[in-house]
Amino acid sequence: MTQAIYLDYNATAPLRSQARDAMIRALSVTGNPSSVHGFGRAARRLVEEGREAVAALAGVAPAQIVFTSGGTEANAMALRGLASAGRTILVSAIEHPSVLTATASAAVPVRPDGVVDLGALDGMLAACGPAAVSLMAANNETGVIQPLSDAVEIARRHGALVHCDAVQAAGKIAVDFDSLGVDLLSLSGHKIGGPPGVGALVLRDGVVVPPLILGGGQERSRRGGTENVPGIVGFGAAAEAARNGLDAFAGLAAWRDALERRLLEISPEAAIFGRRSPRLANTSCIEMPGVPAETQVMAFDLAGIAVSAGSACSSGKVAASPVLAAMGVAEGPASSAVRVSLGWDTDADEIEAFVKAWSSIFQRAGAAAA
Ligand code: PLP
Repeated sequence: MTQAIYLDYNATAPLRSQARDAMIRALSVTGNPSSVHGFGRAARRLVEEGREAVAALAGVAPAQIVFTSGGTEANAMALRGLASAGRTILVSAIEHPSVLTATASAAVPVRPDGVVDLGALDGMLAACGPAAVSLMAANNETGVIQPLSDAVEIARRHGALVHCDAVQAAGKIAVDFDSLGVDLLSLSGHKIGGPPGVGALVLRDGVVVPPLILGGGQERSRRGGTENVPGIVGFGAAAEAARNGLDAFAGLAAWRDALERRLLEISPEAAIFGRRSPRLANTSCIEMPGVPAETQVMAFDLAGIAVSAGSACSSGKVAASPVLAAMGVAEGPASSAVRVSLGWDTDADEIEAFVKAWSSIFQRAGAAAA
């Protein structure tokens, strides 16, 4: 069915009009950015303009950006590169599967509030040799913002490098590479209103990771393959719009908080995971007591509302969220948690419709159980 109400921005965001318009123009440009003739130079200009806009979103120089096929590839490139240099890889237990599976790694525990345990990180770094830490800027399921600068400080004391998966945080909060102090950072186009299939790895000057994909020396020999020109153009346009829209995005917290208050009035025993921690303004991970997450997702879908259970990549699977498990949430509440993620096109009527649907699904489930 056609989804009328889209509350799943953390899975993928709608393409921003600026990105769509820029991509349509780019699709009419013929030319390989590596070709020296005028056609090639025109395509190269588009790639470099995109690079400048993405670099501005992260507060870095354009030369620090390596375009990839998305956040997954950026994470893989970062972590496999760090591991190939002989570093032990420590990742937080709530990282995205693309980090958890990129290479052999040890998981740093998180606290029940969804924040990484910095004491444990310190201890683990003390117990290993040369290391690298991967800590996400904000979690995709709970929205909990991680204490990156503190983690960087600890890592530095142990001589460790730090990679940050900023795929969910970028465009939602300021992500300034230098203020965070990290060495490598991953971005993805489709989470900020660009197209899917394009992302970037940001590298600190002097940090070298071997290419995952060899080819014609593109991206300064850091990532082979003819550049995805329309994708990069769309990513760049979305990055600029996202950077200009950060204040408006922060305003979504008022709606999200009101939504949570209303649900707690309907069901005071419902848990909202990570609620007491600093969170992305748009994200809420909510338990509907006693109602399996898949049942909820289907019932919301019938009501024309798109939300997801667990992380997007596993929304088709019936498994309790490893993120909630890492926070120590018991299987019962974890399996009844649904993620709602708002965005720039969300309006007050949609929030109202969601609250009504939540209430009626909850009451129907209660009546069925009685
Ligand atoms: N990292 C996080 C935190 C994500 O939420 C996602 C997507 O869900 C990714 C990485 C993967 O990004 P992409 O879909 O561009 O490969």
